[in-house]
Amino acid sequence: MPNKHQYSQALDHSVFRVISKAASNLKLESYVIGGFVRDYILQRGTAKDIDVVAVGSGIELAKEVSKLLPKNPKVSIFKNYGTAMLKADDIELEFVGARKESYEENSRNPAVEGGTLEDDQNRRDFTINAMAISLQGENFGTLLDPFNGIQDLKDKIIRTPLEPGITYSDDPLRMLRAIRFATQLNFKIEEKSFEAITENADRIKIISKERIVDELHKILASPKPSIGFSILNKTNLLPLILPELAALKGVDDIEGQRHKDNFWHTLEVVDNIAKNTDNVWLRWAALLHDVGKAPTKKFDKKVGWTFHGHEFVGSKMVYKLFRRLKMPLNEKMKFVQKMVFMSSRPIVIASDVTDSAVRRLIFDAGEHIDDLMTLCEADITTKNPHKFKKYHNNFKLVRDKIIEVEARDHVRNFEPPISGEEIMKVYSLKPSREIGIIKDAIKEAILDGTITNDYNEAYEFMLQKGKSLGLKINTP
Ligand code: ATP
Repeated sequence: MPNKHQYSQALDHSVFRVISKAASNLKLESYVIGGFVRDYILQRGTAKDIDVVAVGSGIELAKEVSKLLPKNPKVSIFKNYGTAMLKADDIELEFVGARKESYEENSRNPAVEGGTLEDDQNRRDFTINAMAISLQGENFGTLLDPFNGIQDLKDKIIRTPLEPGITYSDDPLRMLRAIRFATQLNFKIEEKSFEAITENADRIKIISKERIVDELHKILASPKPSIGFSILNKTNLLPLILPELAALKGVDDIEGQRHKDNFWHTLEVVDNIAKNTDNVWLRWAALLHDVGKAPTKKFDKKVGWTFHGHEFVGSKMVYKLFRRLKMPLNEKMKFVQKMVFMSSRPIVIASDVTDSAVRRLIFDAGEHIDDLMTLCEADITTKNPHKFKKYHNNFKLVRDKIIEVEARDHVRNFEPPISGEEIMKVYSLKPSREIGIIKDAIKEAILDGTITNDYNEAYEFMLQKGKSLGLKINTP
Protein backbone atom coordinates (compact mmCIF):
# COMPACT_ATOMS: atom_id res chain seq x y z
CA MET A 1 0.00 0.00 0.00
CA PRO A 2 1.69 3.21 -1.11
CA ASN A 3 2.14 5.96 1.46
CA LYS A 4 0.16 9.06 0.72
CA HIS A 5 1.64 12.36 1.68
CA GLN A 6 1.07 15.81 0.33
CA TYR A 7 4.11 17.54 -1.07
CA SER A 8 2.59 20.30 -3.16
CA GLN A 9 4.87 22.79 -1.38
CA ALA A 10 7.78 21.13 -3.18
CA LEU A 11 6.17 22.15 -6.46
CA ASP A 12 5.77 25.88 -5.95
CA HIS A 13 7.95 26.73 -8.97
CA SER A 14 5.67 27.73 -11.85
CA VAL A 15 7.34 25.22 -14.19
CA PHE A 16 5.58 22.30 -12.45
CA ARG A 17 2.14 23.69 -13.35
CA VAL A 18 3.34 24.02 -16.94
CA ILE A 19 4.44 20.36 -17.02
CA SER A 20 1.12 19.37 -15.48
CA LYS A 21 -0.79 21.27 -18.16
CA ALA A 22 1.37 19.85 -20.96
CA ALA A 23 0.81 16.30 -19.69
CA SER A 24 -2.92 16.90 -19.48
CA ASN A 25 -2.94 18.23 -23.09
CA LEU A 26 -1.27 14.98 -24.16
CA LYS A 27 -3.54 12.94 -21.87
CA LEU A 28 -0.67 11.34 -20.02
CA GLU A 29 0.46 11.09 -16.43
CA SER A 30 3.64 12.79 -15.29
CA TYR A 31 5.66 12.73 -12.09
CA VAL A 32 8.71 14.37 -10.60
CA ILE A 33 11.00 11.60 -9.45
CA GLY A 34 14.42 10.77 -8.00
CA GLY A 35 16.99 13.20 -6.65
CA PHE A 36 14.71 16.24 -6.58
CA VAL A 37 12.18 14.50 -4.33
CA ARG A 38 14.88 12.97 -2.13
CA ASP A 39 16.76 16.24 -1.68
CA TYR A 40 13.56 18.21 -1.06
CA ILE A 41 12.57 15.88 1.78
CA LEU A 42 16.11 15.96 3.16
CA GLN A 43 16.01 19.75 2.90
CA ARG A 44 19.32 19.68 1.04
CA GLY A 45 18.42 22.86 -0.84
CA THR A 46 16.39 22.84 -4.02
CA ALA A 47 17.97 20.79 -6.76
CA LYS A 48 18.40 22.49 -10.13
CA ASP A 49 18.24 19.18 -12.01
CA ILE A 50 14.75 17.81 -12.10
CA ASP A 51 13.78 14.41 -13.47
CA VAL A 52 10.30 14.03 -14.85
CA VAL A 53 8.83 10.70 -15.79
CA ALA A 54 5.91 10.49 -18.22
CA VAL A 55 3.70 7.44 -18.55
CA GLY A 56 4.02 7.62 -22.33
CA SER A 57 6.59 9.51 -24.39
CA GLY A 58 8.99 11.68 -22.38
CA ILE A 59 10.17 13.29 -25.60
CA GLU A 60 6.63 14.35 -26.64
CA LEU A 61 6.02 15.73 -23.15
CA ALA A 62 9.25 17.78 -23.32
CA LYS A 63 8.18 19.25 -26.68
CA GLU A 64 4.75 20.17 -25.33
CA VAL A 65 6.29 21.77 -22.22
CA SER A 66 8.56 23.86 -24.44
CA LYS A 67 5.53 25.04 -26.45
CA LEU A 68 3.84 26.25 -23.27
CA LEU A 69 6.88 28.00 -21.80
CA PRO A 70 7.24 31.73 -22.54
CA LYS A 71 10.49 31.52 -24.53
CA ASN A 72 9.91 28.05 -26.05
CA PRO A 73 13.33 26.77 -24.92
CA LYS A 74 15.22 24.38 -27.15
CA VAL A 75 14.55 20.70 -26.52
CA SER A 76 17.60 18.43 -26.71
CA ILE A 77 16.55 14.93 -27.66
CA PHE A 78 18.56 11.79 -26.87
CA LYS A 79 16.76 9.28 -29.03
CA ASN A 80 18.85 6.28 -27.99
CA TYR A 81 17.90 6.80 -24.38
CA GLY A 82 14.34 7.98 -25.07
CA THR A 83 15.02 11.11 -23.06
CA ALA A 84 14.78 14.83 -23.69
CA MET A 85 16.14 17.82 -21.87
CA LEU A 86 15.31 21.49 -21.69
CA LYS A 87 16.26 24.48 -19.60
CA ALA A 88 13.67 26.72 -18.01
CA ASP A 89 15.37 29.68 -16.29
CA ASP A 90 18.03 28.14 -14.08
CA ILE A 91 16.33 24.74 -13.95
CA GLU A 92 17.33 21.76 -16.05
CA LEU A 93 14.45 19.42 -16.77
CA GLU A 94 15.03 15.89 -17.93
CA PHE A 95 12.09 13.93 -19.35
CA VAL A 96 11.90 10.19 -19.67
CA GLY A 97 9.08 7.78 -20.50
CA ALA A 98 8.19 5.30 -17.72
CA ARG A 99 9.91 2.03 -18.55
CA LYS A 100 10.42 -1.57 -17.69
CA GLU A 101 13.95 -2.92 -17.96
CA SER A 102 15.54 -6.32 -18.47
CA TYR A 103 19.27 -6.92 -18.26
CA GLU A 104 21.83 -9.08 -20.04
CA GLU A 105 24.82 -10.61 -18.27
CA ASN A 106 27.61 -8.53 -19.78
CA SER A 107 26.12 -5.08 -20.17
CA ARG A 108 24.68 -2.47 -17.88
CA ASN A 109 22.44 -1.24 -20.69
CA PRO A 110 19.12 -3.01 -20.40
CA ALA A 111 16.50 -3.86 -22.98
CA VAL A 112 13.75 -1.32 -22.41
CA GLU A 113 10.00 -1.29 -22.97
CA GLY A 114 7.27 1.15 -22.00
CA GLY A 115 5.73 0.61 -18.56
CA THR A 116 3.72 2.05 -15.71
CA LEU A 117 4.96 4.40 -13.01
CA GLU A 118 5.42 1.38 -10.76
CA ASP A 119 7.52 -0.41 -13.36
CA ASP A 120 9.64 2.69 -13.53
CA GLN A 121 10.00 2.92 -9.76
CA ASN A 122 11.02 -0.76 -9.67
CA ARG A 123 13.97 -0.05 -11.97
CA ARG A 124 15.33 2.74 -9.77
CA ASP A 125 18.47 2.09 -7.77
CA PHE A 126 17.47 2.94 -4.21
CA THR A 127 14.25 3.34 -2.26
CA ILE A 128 15.23 6.94 -1.48
CA ASN A 129 15.64 7.61 -5.23
CA ALA A 130 12.38 5.93 -6.26
CA MET A 131 9.95 8.38 -4.69
CA ALA A 132 7.73 10.32 -7.08
CA ILE A 133 5.43 13.31 -6.69
CA SER A 134 2.38 13.45 -8.91
CA LEU A 135 1.81 16.34 -11.29
CA GLN A 136 -1.82 15.26 -12.12
CA GLY A 137 -4.79 17.61 -11.56
CA GLU A 138 -6.39 16.62 -8.28
CA ASN A 139 -3.41 14.49 -7.19
CA PHE A 140 -0.95 17.34 -7.77
CA GLY A 141 1.65 17.09 -4.98
CA THR A 142 0.86 13.54 -3.82
CA LEU A 143 3.91 11.49 -2.89
CA LEU A 144 4.05 7.99 -4.38
CA ASP A 145 6.48 5.98 -2.31
CA PRO A 146 5.91 2.25 -2.83
CA PHE A 147 9.10 1.16 -1.03
CA ASN A 148 8.81 3.46 1.96
CA GLY A 149 11.82 5.51 0.94
CA ILE A 150 10.68 8.21 3.31
CA GLN A 151 11.31 5.89 6.25
CA ASP A 152 14.75 5.02 4.87
CA LEU A 153 15.50 8.74 4.65
CA LYS A 154 14.59 9.05 8.32
CA ASP A 155 16.62 5.98 9.25
CA LYS A 156 19.51 7.09 7.00
CA ILE A 157 19.57 3.85 5.06
CA ILE A 158 20.54 2.99 1.49
CA ARG A 159 18.33 0.11 0.37
CA THR A 160 17.37 -1.24 -3.05
CA PRO A 161 13.69 -1.55 -4.10
CA LEU A 162 14.20 -5.09 -5.42
CA GLU A 163 16.44 -7.97 -4.39
CA PRO A 164 19.92 -6.43 -3.91
CA GLY A 165 21.78 -9.31 -5.59
CA ILE A 166 19.85 -8.68 -8.82
CA THR A 167 19.97 -4.90 -8.54
CA TYR A 168 23.77 -4.73 -8.27
CA SER A 169 24.50 -7.51 -10.69
CA ASP A 170 22.19 -5.93 -13.33
CA ASP A 171 23.98 -2.61 -13.14
CA PRO A 172 27.19 -2.71 -11.09
CA LEU A 173 27.48 1.08 -11.29
CA ARG A 174 24.84 1.03 -8.54
CA MET A 175 27.48 -0.37 -6.17
CA LEU A 176 29.47 2.82 -6.49
CA ARG A 177 26.33 4.94 -6.40
CA ALA A 178 25.35 3.28 -3.11
CA ILE A 179 28.76 4.02 -1.65
CA ARG A 180 28.70 7.55 -3.01
CA PHE A 181 25.26 8.32 -1.54
CA ALA A 182 26.30 6.75 1.78
CA THR A 183 29.27 9.14 1.79
CA GLN A 184 27.45 12.28 0.63
CA LEU A 185 24.50 11.80 2.98
CA ASN A 186 26.29 9.98 5.79
CA PHE A 187 23.86 7.03 5.45
CA LYS A 188 24.42 3.34 6.17
CA ILE A 189 24.19 0.76 3.42
CA GLU A 190 21.67 -1.85 4.52
CA GLU A 191 23.31 -5.18 5.38
CA LYS A 192 21.88 -7.25 2.52
CA SER A 193 22.98 -4.58 0.08
CA PHE A 194 26.42 -4.53 1.64
CA GLU A 195 26.73 -8.29 1.20
CA ALA A 196 25.45 -8.13 -2.37
CA ILE A 197 27.98 -5.43 -3.24
CA THR A 198 30.78 -7.53 -1.76
CA GLU A 199 29.62 -10.58 -3.70
CA ASN A 200 29.32 -8.66 -6.96
CA ALA A 201 32.43 -6.50 -6.55
CA ASP A 202 34.11 -8.22 -9.46
CA ARG A 203 31.37 -7.04 -11.83
CA ILE A 204 32.70 -3.50 -11.56
CA LYS A 205 34.84 -4.56 -14.54
CA ILE A 206 31.98 -3.90 -16.95
CA ILE A 207 31.68 -0.26 -15.86
CA SER A 208 33.47 2.40 -17.87
CA LYS A 209 36.39 4.20 -16.25
CA GLU A 210 34.70 7.57 -16.78
CA ARG A 211 31.68 6.51 -14.71
CA ILE A 212 33.89 5.13 -11.96
CA VAL A 213 35.89 8.34 -11.80
CA ASP A 214 32.68 10.37 -11.72
CA GLU A 215 31.65 8.56 -8.56
CA LEU A 216 35.14 8.80 -7.03
CA HIS A 217 35.06 12.56 -7.60
CA LYS A 218 31.74 12.77 -5.79
CA ILE A 219 33.02 10.67 -2.90
CA LEU A 220 36.09 12.87 -2.65
CA ALA A 221 34.00 16.04 -2.82
CA SER A 222 31.90 14.90 0.18
CA PRO A 223 32.38 16.34 3.67
CA LYS A 224 33.93 13.10 4.97
CA PRO A 225 35.38 11.12 2.05
CA SER A 226 36.82 8.39 4.32
CA ILE A 227 33.29 6.96 4.67
CA GLY A 228 33.34 6.00 0.99
CA PHE A 229 36.91 4.74 0.85
CA SER A 230 36.47 2.60 3.90
CA ILE A 231 33.34 1.00 2.36
CA LEU A 232 35.23 0.48 -0.91
CA ASN A 233 37.81 -1.32 1.20
CA LYS A 234 35.33 -3.46 3.14
CA THR A 235 33.43 -4.51 0.02
CA ASN A 236 36.65 -5.48 -1.80
CA LEU A 237 36.07 -2.90 -4.52
CA LEU A 238 39.16 -0.92 -3.56
CA PRO A 239 41.82 -3.24 -5.05
CA LEU A 240 39.78 -3.41 -8.26
CA ILE A 241 39.55 0.35 -8.65
CA LEU A 242 42.53 1.80 -6.80
CA PRO A 243 45.03 -1.02 -6.19
CA GLU A 244 47.71 1.59 -5.35
CA LEU A 245 45.73 2.59 -2.27
CA ALA A 246 44.88 -0.98 -1.29
CA ALA A 247 48.63 -1.71 -1.32
CA LEU A 248 49.12 0.78 1.51
CA LYS A 249 47.11 -1.35 3.91
CA GLY A 250 48.74 -3.19 6.75
CA VAL A 251 51.44 -2.80 9.35
CA ASP A 252 54.67 -4.77 9.24
CA ASP A 253 56.59 -5.66 12.32
CA ILE A 254 60.23 -6.70 12.22
CA GLU A 255 62.19 -6.99 15.46
CA GLY A 256 59.54 -4.95 17.23
CA GLN A 257 59.80 -2.05 14.75
CA ARG A 258 56.49 -1.09 13.19
CA HIS A 259 55.35 1.52 10.70
CA LYS A 260 51.92 3.14 10.60
CA ASP A 261 49.14 1.75 8.40
CA ASN A 262 49.45 4.13 5.49
CA PHE A 263 45.97 3.41 4.14
CA TRP A 264 44.15 4.50 7.29
CA HIS A 265 46.57 7.37 7.69
CA THR A 266 45.74 8.48 4.13
CA LEU A 267 42.02 8.45 4.88
CA GLU A 268 42.58 10.67 7.90
CA VAL A 269 44.59 13.06 5.74
CA VAL A 270 41.79 13.19 3.17
CA ASP A 271 39.19 13.95 5.85
CA ASN A 272 41.46 16.63 7.29
CA ILE A 273 41.97 18.32 3.96
CA ALA A 274 38.25 18.13 3.17
CA LYS A 275 37.71 20.49 6.10
CA ASN A 276 40.06 23.04 4.59
CA THR A 277 39.55 22.98 0.84
CA ASP A 278 36.85 22.39 -1.77
CA ASN A 279 39.49 21.87 -4.45
CA VAL A 280 38.83 18.28 -5.48
CA TRP A 281 42.30 17.99 -7.10
CA LEU A 282 43.98 18.90 -3.85
CA ARG A 283 41.82 16.20 -2.27
CA TRP A 284 43.10 13.77 -4.93
CA ALA A 285 46.63 14.80 -3.98
CA ALA A 286 45.88 14.00 -0.34
CA LEU A 287 44.48 10.62 -1.39
CA LEU A 288 47.59 9.79 -3.38
CA HIS A 289 50.29 11.57 -1.38
CA ASP A 290 51.67 8.33 0.09
CA VAL A 291 51.08 5.82 -2.74
CA GLY A 292 54.83 5.64 -3.38
CA LYS A 293 55.29 4.17 0.08
CA ALA A 294 54.21 0.66 -0.90
CA PRO A 295 56.84 0.11 -3.62
CA THR A 296 59.65 1.90 -1.71
CA LYS A 297 59.16 0.26 1.68
CA LYS A 298 62.37 -1.23 3.12
CA PHE A 299 63.56 -2.41 6.48
CA ASP A 300 66.92 -1.23 7.71
CA LYS A 301 68.30 -2.80 10.86
CA LYS A 302 69.70 0.53 12.07
CA VAL A 303 66.91 2.99 11.26
CA GLY A 304 63.85 0.75 10.97
CA TRP A 305 61.31 1.21 8.17
CA THR A 306 62.15 3.59 5.35
CA PHE A 307 60.33 4.83 2.26
CA HIS A 308 63.17 6.59 0.48
CA GLY A 309 62.16 8.49 -2.62
CA HIS A 310 58.47 7.65 -2.19
CA GLU A 311 57.47 11.16 -3.25
CA PHE A 312 59.20 10.79 -6.63
CA VAL A 313 57.90 7.24 -7.16
CA GLY A 314 54.44 8.38 -6.03
CA SER A 315 54.37 11.25 -8.52
CA LYS A 316 55.16 8.80 -11.34
CA MET A 317 52.35 6.55 -10.09
CA VAL A 318 49.93 9.49 -10.27
CA TYR A 319 50.46 9.67 -14.02
CA LYS A 320 49.91 5.93 -14.48
CA LEU A 321 46.82 5.94 -12.29
CA PHE A 322 45.29 8.91 -14.11
CA ARG A 323 46.02 7.26 -17.45
CA ARG A 324 44.53 3.93 -16.38
CA LEU A 325 41.36 5.62 -15.14
CA LYS A 326 41.14 7.78 -18.27
CA MET A 327 41.38 10.91 -16.17
CA PRO A 328 42.67 14.15 -17.72
CA LEU A 329 46.42 14.14 -18.31
CA ASN A 330 46.50 17.93 -18.28
CA GLU A 331 47.49 20.58 -15.74
CA LYS A 332 45.19 18.96 -13.13
CA MET A 333 47.23 15.78 -13.25
CA LYS A 334 50.45 17.80 -13.17
CA PHE A 335 49.17 19.65 -10.12
CA VAL A 336 48.46 16.38 -8.29
CA GLN A 337 51.89 15.06 -9.32
CA LYS A 338 53.57 18.19 -8.07
CA MET A 339 51.79 18.08 -4.73
CA VAL A 340 52.73 14.41 -4.25
CA PHE A 341 56.31 15.07 -5.34
CA MET A 342 56.70 18.02 -2.97
CA SER A 343 54.64 16.60 -0.11
CA SER A 344 57.60 16.18 2.26
CA ARG A 345 59.42 19.41 1.44
CA PRO A 346 57.81 21.69 4.05
CA ILE A 347 58.24 18.97 6.69
CA VAL A 348 61.94 18.73 5.98
CA ILE A 349 62.49 22.45 6.44
CA ALA A 350 60.01 22.94 9.30
CA SER A 351 62.51 22.11 12.02
CA ASP A 352 65.03 24.65 10.72
CA VAL A 353 63.35 27.38 8.73
CA THR A 354 66.09 29.21 6.85
CA ASP A 355 65.51 31.97 4.30
CA SER A 356 67.19 30.07 1.49
CA ALA A 357 65.19 26.86 2.10
CA VAL A 358 61.98 28.88 2.06
CA ARG A 359 63.00 30.73 -1.11
CA ARG A 360 63.55 27.39 -2.83
CA LEU A 361 60.27 26.07 -1.55
CA ILE A 362 58.40 29.12 -2.87
CA PHE A 363 60.23 28.96 -6.18
CA ASP A 364 59.54 25.26 -6.71
CA ALA A 365 55.92 25.31 -5.53
CA GLY A 366 55.15 28.54 -7.41
CA GLU A 367 51.50 29.46 -7.34
CA HIS A 368 50.68 26.24 -5.46
CA ILE A 369 52.62 27.04 -2.28
CA ASP A 370 49.45 27.61 -0.28
CA ASP A 371 47.91 24.30 -1.43
CA LEU A 372 51.14 22.52 -0.53
CA MET A 373 51.07 23.93 3.00
CA THR A 374 47.40 22.93 3.35
CA LEU A 375 48.34 19.38 2.30
CA CYS A 376 51.20 19.20 4.80
CA GLU A 377 49.03 20.46 7.64
CA ALA A 378 46.39 17.83 6.78
CA ASP A 379 49.18 15.23 6.88
CA ILE A 380 49.57 15.72 10.64
CA THR A 381 47.65 12.80 12.08
CA THR A 382 49.62 12.13 15.26
CA LYS A 383 47.46 11.25 18.24
CA ASN A 384 49.99 12.75 20.62
CA PRO A 385 48.58 16.20 21.49
CA HIS A 386 52.00 17.60 22.32
CA LYS A 387 53.43 16.59 18.93
CA PHE A 388 50.25 17.69 17.14
CA LYS A 389 50.63 21.20 18.52
CA LYS A 390 54.36 21.30 17.87
CA TYR A 391 54.02 20.25 14.20
CA HIS A 392 51.26 22.76 13.56
CA ASN A 393 53.35 25.49 15.18
CA ASN A 394 56.31 24.58 13.00
CA PHE A 395 54.18 24.92 9.88
CA LYS A 396 52.86 28.22 11.17
CA LEU A 397 56.49 29.39 11.30
CA VAL A 398 57.01 28.17 7.72
CA ARG A 399 53.87 30.02 6.59
CA ASP A 400 55.01 33.22 8.32
CA LYS A 401 58.44 32.90 6.76
CA ILE A 402 56.90 32.36 3.32
CA ILE A 403 55.03 35.66 3.63
CA GLU A 404 58.12 37.48 4.87
CA VAL A 405 60.49 36.09 2.22
CA GLU A 406 58.02 36.53 -0.63
CA ALA A 407 57.35 40.16 0.34
CA ARG A 408 61.06 40.86 0.31
CA ASP A 409 62.46 38.67 -2.48
CA HIS A 410 59.53 38.10 -4.89
CA VAL A 411 60.61 34.61 -5.88
CA ARG A 412 57.16 33.07 -6.36
CA ASN A 413 56.98 33.26 -10.14
CA PHE A 414 60.31 34.82 -10.60
CA GLU A 415 62.31 34.95 -13.82
CA PRO A 416 66.03 35.56 -13.31
CA PRO A 417 66.67 39.27 -14.05
CA ILE A 418 69.17 38.48 -16.82
CA SER A 419 67.71 36.70 -19.83
CA GLY A 420 69.43 34.12 -22.01
CA GLU A 421 69.35 36.60 -24.89
CA GLU A 422 71.22 39.20 -22.90
CA ILE A 423 73.91 36.66 -21.97
CA MET A 424 74.26 35.72 -25.65
CA LYS A 425 74.67 39.38 -26.56
CA VAL A 426 77.22 40.18 -23.85
CA TYR A 427 79.42 37.25 -24.87
CA SER A 428 78.58 37.07 -28.57
CA LEU A 429 77.41 33.53 -28.15
CA LYS A 430 75.09 31.39 -30.22
CA PRO A 431 72.62 29.26 -28.22
CA SER A 432 74.93 26.98 -26.23
CA ARG A 433 75.50 25.09 -22.99
CA GLU A 434 77.30 28.05 -21.34
CA ILE A 435 74.19 30.19 -21.46
CA GLY A 436 72.24 27.57 -19.51
CA ILE A 437 75.05 27.30 -16.98
CA ILE A 438 75.18 31.04 -16.38
CA LYS A 439 71.39 31.40 -16.21
CA ASP A 440 71.18 28.57 -13.73
CA ALA A 441 74.01 29.93 -11.63
CA ILE A 442 72.24 33.31 -11.39
CA LYS A 443 69.01 31.62 -10.34
CA GLU A 444 70.79 29.49 -7.74
CA ALA A 445 72.67 32.48 -6.36
CA ILE A 446 69.41 34.37 -5.87
CA LEU A 447 67.69 31.38 -4.25
CA ASP A 448 70.71 30.80 -2.00
CA GLY A 449 70.75 34.46 -1.03
CA THR A 450 74.31 35.03 -2.37
CA ILE A 451 72.86 37.94 -4.36
CA THR A 452 69.46 39.60 -4.23
CA ASN A 453 66.87 39.45 -7.01
CA ASP A 454 68.21 42.65 -8.59
CA TYR A 455 69.42 43.42 -12.12
CA ASN A 456 72.75 45.08 -11.25
CA GLU A 457 73.78 42.42 -8.76
CA ALA A 458 72.83 39.69 -11.22
CA TYR A 459 74.81 41.42 -13.99
CA GLU A 460 77.91 41.61 -11.80
CA PHE A 461 77.45 37.96 -10.89
CA MET A 462 77.12 37.01 -14.57
CA LEU A 463 80.43 38.73 -15.36
CA GLN A 464 82.21 36.75 -12.64
CA LYS A 465 80.68 33.51 -13.78
CA GLY A 466 81.55 34.24 -17.42
CA LYS A 467 85.14 34.90 -16.41
CA SER A 468 85.37 31.60 -14.55
CA LEU A 469 84.11 29.86 -17.70
CA GLY A 470 86.78 31.61 -19.75
CA LEU A 471 84.28 33.66 -21.78
CA LYS A 472 85.25 36.95 -23.39
CA ILE A 473 83.02 39.99 -23.29
CA ASN A 474 81.87 41.30 -26.64
CA THR A 475 83.25 44.84 -26.87
CA PRO A 476 81.45 46.79 -29.59
P1 ATP B 1 22.67 13.48 -7.90
O1 ATP B 1 22.20 14.54 -8.81
O2 ATP B 1 23.08 13.95 -6.54
O3 ATP B 1 23.69 12.56 -8.50
P2 ATP B 1 20.31 11.99 -8.53
O4 ATP B 1 19.56 10.99 -7.72
O5 ATP B 1 19.54 13.09 -9.16
O6 ATP B 1 21.43 12.55 -7.57
P3 ATP B 1 21.07 11.08 -11.15
O7 ATP B 1 22.27 10.34 -11.54
O8 ATP B 1 20.75 12.38 -11.78
O9 ATP B 1 21.15 11.20 -9.58
O10 ATP B 1 19.83 10.09 -11.36
C1 ATP B 1 18.49 10.51 -11.31
C2 ATP B 1 17.62 9.36 -10.85
O11 ATP B 1 17.69 8.29 -11.80
C3 ATP B 1 18.06 8.74 -9.54
O12 ATP B 1 17.50 9.41 -8.45
C4 ATP B 1 17.53 7.31 -9.68
O13 ATP B 1 16.15 7.25 -9.42
C5 ATP B 1 17.71 7.03 -11.14
N1 ATP B 1 18.99 6.37 -11.46
C6 ATP B 1 20.16 6.98 -11.82
N2 ATP B 1 21.09 6.08 -12.07
C7 ATP B 1 20.55 4.86 -11.88
C8 ATP B 1 21.02 3.52 -11.99
N3 ATP B 1 22.28 3.26 -12.33
N4 ATP B 1 20.15 2.53 -11.73
C9 ATP B 1 18.88 2.79 -11.38
N5 ATP B 1 18.39 4.02 -11.24
C10 ATP B 1 19.19 5.06 -11.49
